[in-house]
Amino acid sequence: TASAQCPPDKEQLGRATWSFLHTTAAYYPERPTPSQRANMLALIHALPVLYPCSHCAEDFGESVARNKPDVSGRAGLSRWFCERHNEVNEKLGKEPFDCAKTGERWKEGPADGSCN
Ligand code: FAD
Repeated sequence: TASAQCPPDKEQLGRATWSFLHTTAAYYPERPTPSQRANMLALIHALPVLYPCSHCAEDFGESVARNKPDVSGRAGLSRWFCERHNEVNEKLGKEPFDCAKTGERWKEGPADGSCN
Protein backbone atom coordinates (compact mmCIF):
# COMPACT_ATOMS: atom_id res chain seq x y z
CA THR A 1 0.00 0.00 0.00
CA ALA A 2 1.15 3.52 -0.74
CA SER A 3 2.37 5.59 2.20
CA ALA A 4 0.07 8.35 3.32
CA GLN A 5 0.45 11.69 1.57
CA CYS A 6 0.34 14.29 4.29
CA PRO A 7 -0.98 17.81 3.73
CA PRO A 8 1.82 20.37 3.48
CA ASP A 9 2.93 21.99 6.70
CA LYS A 10 3.89 25.68 6.89
CA GLU A 11 7.49 25.01 5.78
CA GLN A 12 6.55 22.81 2.78
CA LEU A 13 3.85 25.23 1.69
CA GLY A 14 6.33 28.10 1.99
CA ARG A 15 8.97 26.32 -0.13
CA ALA A 16 6.39 25.46 -2.78
CA THR A 17 5.00 28.99 -2.83
CA TRP A 18 8.40 30.69 -3.02
CA SER A 19 9.35 28.27 -5.85
CA PHE A 20 6.24 29.32 -7.73
CA LEU A 21 6.68 33.05 -7.08
CA HIS A 22 10.43 33.26 -7.84
CA THR A 23 10.11 31.03 -10.92
CA THR A 24 7.16 33.04 -12.21
CA ALA A 25 9.18 36.24 -11.71
CA ALA A 26 12.19 34.68 -13.50
CA TYR A 27 9.99 34.04 -16.56
CA TYR A 28 7.98 37.27 -16.31
CA PRO A 29 8.50 39.34 -19.49
CA GLU A 30 11.21 41.97 -19.62
CA ARG A 31 8.57 44.23 -21.15
CA PRO A 32 5.20 43.08 -19.79
CA THR A 33 1.94 44.20 -21.38
CA PRO A 34 -0.54 46.21 -19.29
CA SER A 35 -2.57 43.01 -18.90
CA GLN A 36 0.46 41.04 -17.66
CA ARG A 37 1.29 43.81 -15.17
CA ALA A 38 -2.30 43.97 -13.91
CA ASN A 39 -2.46 40.20 -13.48
CA MET A 40 0.84 40.12 -11.57
CA LEU A 41 -0.38 42.90 -9.28
CA ALA A 42 -3.61 40.94 -8.71
CA LEU A 43 -1.61 37.80 -7.87
CA ILE A 44 0.50 39.71 -5.34
CA HIS A 45 -2.51 41.39 -3.76
CA ALA A 46 -4.39 38.08 -3.54
CA LEU A 47 -1.74 36.49 -1.31
CA PRO A 48 -2.49 38.49 1.87
CA VAL A 49 -6.18 37.62 1.41
CA LEU A 50 -5.88 33.94 0.51
CA TYR A 51 -2.53 32.50 1.67
CA PRO A 52 -3.47 29.72 4.09
CA CYS A 53 -1.07 30.70 6.89
CA SER A 54 -2.84 33.62 8.47
CA HIS A 55 0.07 35.22 10.34
CA CYS A 56 2.28 34.80 7.24
CA ALA A 57 -0.42 36.39 5.10
CA GLU A 58 -0.86 39.27 7.51
CA ASP A 59 2.85 40.10 7.67
CA PHE A 60 3.18 39.76 3.89
CA GLY A 61 0.25 42.17 3.45
CA GLU A 62 1.99 44.73 5.66
CA SER A 63 5.18 44.30 3.63
CA VAL A 64 3.29 44.81 0.36
CA ALA A 65 1.71 47.96 1.78
CA ARG A 66 5.16 49.35 2.74
CA ASN A 67 6.88 48.25 -0.48
CA LYS A 68 5.04 49.01 -3.71
CA PRO A 69 5.22 45.95 -5.99
CA ASP A 70 7.55 46.51 -8.96
CA VAL A 71 5.75 44.85 -11.86
CA SER A 72 7.62 46.91 -14.49
CA GLY A 73 9.63 43.94 -15.75
CA ARG A 74 11.52 40.74 -14.95
CA ALA A 75 14.52 42.27 -13.19
CA GLY A 76 12.51 44.58 -10.95
CA LEU A 77 9.94 41.94 -10.07
CA SER A 78 12.58 39.30 -9.29
CA ARG A 79 14.32 41.76 -6.97
CA TRP A 80 11.05 42.76 -5.33
CA PHE A 81 10.20 39.12 -4.49
CA CYS A 82 13.77 38.47 -3.35
CA GLU A 83 13.57 41.39 -0.93
CA ARG A 84 10.18 40.30 0.43
CA HIS A 85 11.51 36.74 0.92
CA ASN A 86 14.59 38.14 2.67
CA GLU A 87 12.31 39.95 5.13
CA VAL A 88 10.78 36.58 6.03
CA ASN A 89 14.26 35.01 6.20
CA GLU A 90 15.32 37.71 8.64
CA LYS A 91 12.19 37.29 10.75
CA LEU A 92 12.91 33.53 10.97
CA GLY A 93 16.61 34.05 11.78
CA LYS A 94 17.81 32.72 8.40
CA GLU A 95 20.68 34.04 6.28
CA PRO A 96 19.73 36.62 3.64
CA PHE A 97 19.81 35.42 0.04
CA ASP A 98 22.03 37.33 -2.44
CA CYS A 99 19.46 38.84 -4.81
CA ALA A 100 22.08 39.02 -7.60
CA LYS A 101 21.85 35.19 -7.70
CA THR A 102 18.10 35.05 -8.35
CA GLY A 103 18.44 34.24 -12.07
CA GLU A 104 20.99 31.50 -11.40
CA ARG A 105 18.87 29.94 -8.63
CA TRP A 106 15.49 30.08 -10.37
CA LYS A 107 16.16 30.03 -14.11
CA GLU A 108 19.64 29.39 -15.52
CA GLY A 109 21.07 27.03 -12.90
CA PRO A 110 24.73 27.09 -11.81
CA ALA A 111 27.46 27.81 -14.37
CA ASP A 112 29.03 24.35 -13.82
CA GLY A 113 26.04 22.82 -15.63
CA SER A 114 25.23 20.51 -12.70
CA CYS A 115 21.50 21.17 -13.13
CA ASN A 116 21.43 20.64 -16.91
P1 FAD B 1 12.57 28.88 1.87
O1 FAD B 1 12.66 30.13 2.68
O2 FAD B 1 11.22 28.32 1.58
O3 FAD B 1 13.34 29.14 0.50
C1 FAD B 1 13.38 28.14 -0.53
C2 FAD B 1 14.64 28.37 -1.36
O4 FAD B 1 14.55 29.66 -1.94
C3 FAD B 1 15.92 28.41 -0.56
O5 FAD B 1 16.46 27.13 -0.38
C4 FAD B 1 16.82 29.30 -1.40
O6 FAD B 1 17.48 28.55 -2.40
C5 FAD B 1 15.85 30.23 -2.07
N1 FAD B 1 15.77 31.55 -1.45
C6 FAD B 1 15.89 31.87 -0.13
N2 FAD B 1 15.72 33.18 0.05
C7 FAD B 1 15.51 33.71 -1.17
C8 FAD B 1 15.30 35.02 -1.63
N3 FAD B 1 15.27 36.07 -0.78
N4 FAD B 1 15.13 35.22 -2.96
C9 FAD B 1 15.17 34.19 -3.83
N5 FAD B 1 15.36 32.91 -3.45
C10 FAD B 1 15.54 32.68 -2.13
N6 FAD B 1 7.08 30.98 7.64
C11 FAD B 1 6.97 31.32 8.93
O7 FAD B 1 7.32 30.53 9.81
N7 FAD B 1 6.46 32.55 9.30
C12 FAD B 1 6.03 33.45 8.39
O8 FAD B 1 5.56 34.55 8.74
C13 FAD B 1 6.12 33.11 7.01
N8 FAD B 1 5.68 33.96 6.05
C14 FAD B 1 5.70 33.56 4.75
C15 FAD B 1 5.16 34.41 3.78
C16 FAD B 1 5.11 34.03 2.46
C17 FAD B 1 4.49 34.95 1.43
C18 FAD B 1 5.62 32.75 2.08
C19 FAD B 1 5.55 32.30 0.64
C20 FAD B 1 6.17 31.90 3.04
C21 FAD B 1 6.21 32.29 4.37
N9 FAD B 1 6.76 31.46 5.36
C22 FAD B 1 6.67 31.84 6.68
C23 FAD B 1 7.49 30.22 5.00
C24 FAD B 1 9.01 30.47 5.00
O9 FAD B 1 9.33 31.63 4.22
C25 FAD B 1 9.79 29.30 4.39
O10 FAD B 1 9.26 28.97 3.12
C26 FAD B 1 9.82 28.03 5.25
O11 FAD B 1 10.28 28.36 6.54
C27 FAD B 1 10.76 26.97 4.63
O12 FAD B 1 12.06 27.53 4.61
P2 FAD B 1 13.30 26.92 3.87
O13 FAD B 1 14.48 27.22 4.73
O14 FAD B 1 13.06 25.51 3.47
O15 FAD B 1 13.48 27.76 2.51
